[in-house]
Amino acid sequence: MCHNVLQDQTIFQILLRIDADLAARTQAGRCACGGALHRADYPRKPRGCLKAARAAYSSRFSFCCSCCRKRRTAPSVRFLGRRVYLALVVVLMASRLTARTPGTQTLCALIAVPRRTLQRWRSWWVQDFPLTRLWQAEVACILPSVSREDLPQSLLVRFAGPPLEALLHGLLLLTPLTTRT
Ligand SMILES: [Zn+2]
Repeated sequence: MCHNVLQDQTIFQILLRIDADLAARTQAGRCACGGALHRADYPRKPRGCLKAARAAYSSRFSFCCSCCRKRRTAPSVRFLGRRVYLALVVVLMASRLTARTPGTQTLCALIAVPRRTLQRWRSWWVQDFPLTRLWQAEVACILPSVSREDLPQSLLVRFAGPPLEALLHGLLLLTPLTTRT
């Protein structure tokens, strides 16, 4: 699935639509001071992005308060915090590493993810992700428990539906980690 998804425009379009929706909700929420939120998107240089989607993925939805100028960035299924690689790539490539699927190296070369970066993602999934509040609130209560060793694959397989749907659910679950609170 990994190879196909990362080269298929469909998922990139779906994720963009979800992000636009999350952004609209963020903007409707207004600032804590009561001020209106105006668009002030962040420029991004997304890695692992399909060429055809690059223009649409070169910024992240963010807002600035019209009164106090405080920033509010919308949660995202496209960008996992400040990572330069798209969330999609971080999830898929790390699952592939977990699954020890033959051909991982070929795929890494294809979208140019250095081996070191992959190892860093892997240790984030296994060591850091289980320490997040999100894990405590959403994942720790899943029974039977999700294996930490095989993250993120062990989490994705818990979502019902075809792999693409499971992937979308996984990315949505991660959205609280994509903004600073
Ligand atoms: Zn404000």
